[in-house]
Amino acid sequence: MTPVNVAQSRPQDWVYLSEGGSTIVFSYTGPVHPDFTAKILRLRKTSLNVASHDTTIDAEDDPVIAFQNTVIAALVPSKFLPDLEVVLLDATWLAALEALRDSDRPAERRAKDQIDKARQKGILATDLIGGADILAIEIKPKWGFLPNSAHLSQETAEIKTSTCRFCMHTRFKFKDDVATQYCPLDLYSNDEARVRRAIRDLWGGWVQSNGSLNNMRVFVSGKMIRPSELYASLGEFLEVSTEVHEALATALLPLLQTPVLGTISGLQRSLDALDIEGIFKLHGMAYPNAKGFSAVRGNPTLGELQDFVASYHSGYCALDHSKLSLEHIDTYLVAYLLSATFKDCSVIFRIRRSDRSGDPSVDPHAVSIIDLDLKGVDRFEQWADLDRRIVEYYRDIAQRKLCVE
Ligand SMILES: [Zn+2]
Repeated sequence: MTPVNVAQSRPQDWVYLSEGGSTIVFSYTGPVHPDFTAKILRLRKTSLNVASHDTTIDAEDDPVIAFQNTVIAALVPSKFLPDLEVVLLDATWLAALEALRDSDRPAERRAKDQIDKARQKGILATDLIGGADILAIEIKPKWGFLPNSAHLSQETAEIKTSTCRFCMHTRFKFKDDVATQYCPLDLYSNDEARVRRAIRDLWGGWVQSNGSLNNMRVFVSGKMIRPSELYASLGEFLEVSTEVHEALATALLPLLQTPVLGTISGLQRSLDALDIEGIFKLHGMAYPNAKGFSAVRGNPTLGELQDFVASYHSGYCALDHSKLSLEHIDTYLVAYLLSATFKDCSVIFRIRRSDRSGDPSVDPHAVSIIDLDLKGVDRFEQWADLDRRIVEYYRDIAQRKLCVE
């Protein structure tokens, strides 16, 4: 299939949406078009100080798309995944887009970087938050399981199997000034009262931090809003007769009852079968003199990841995880990296103004998992170090939280 060319649309049909450290996103608002309607365009940026473009990184977006389309798609039902495809770019077209929209960017960003106009490829993806009729709630649910205790040390086993990772980490990060009561195990519980409590706690954290905690973001008609801007617009989407969080929970419940959260927590748990402690024990057995994983191997190749998911059920899931088996060290490493992807993803839930509901049978993108990026092997040492520091801190807490699966 030949990729679509962005020059088949007009630069003025795209509006600025958002940007991160390395990419900038535009949303299509032009006339109905088979390739562009309800899509966003993700472009790479380049520093203002870089004189020449490095052409060797042009292929960077292809692995991102291949990872989602061939690895993630083998583990997650396709209805929960946004479409991602390559789009061919054109330097003159990009320059015209920049001339039109650069003034919509935050000044501090404009002072640092710009659209990389030498790129030949970008990404077209489903626009999950745009549309005048849409209230989109983005939730980062985080870790939805308590670890398997088989390979935990005596010092950590009781703590790590009583309090969930997120609750310990929140306490570690905020000390006595904890900004949220949210426990992921409530959200994942499938029990209506607990799910409502999780929404209330996410909402409370969002309001209390004025939207700065990264567990929840709220978009109205494509624009991210802060709690202070909320009340004007939310009544159009929700039946607000009680507390707002109650109305939100009522609207979200049908979407939360889809298998999306069960899929995420099931994968997190199964892919993290040894816990980071078990992974490091295995590594120590295999390479007693090596300092960490990145000293002995690189990131898994796309082929290695594809092989892993192809035999996920019959191979990996059938292993006896209570034993540390040297023969399978690379399999466990790939599995752990994929579990990290699912521990850090977000879910976007969409509610339509017209009927104040999110109905997966009407809106094919009512529930979508995003931010499914592969983490690198060099992260293992940081993960092990953070795990150790969190548990050491939490061990001295007098009133520990008890999290229930
Ligand atoms: Zn918890």
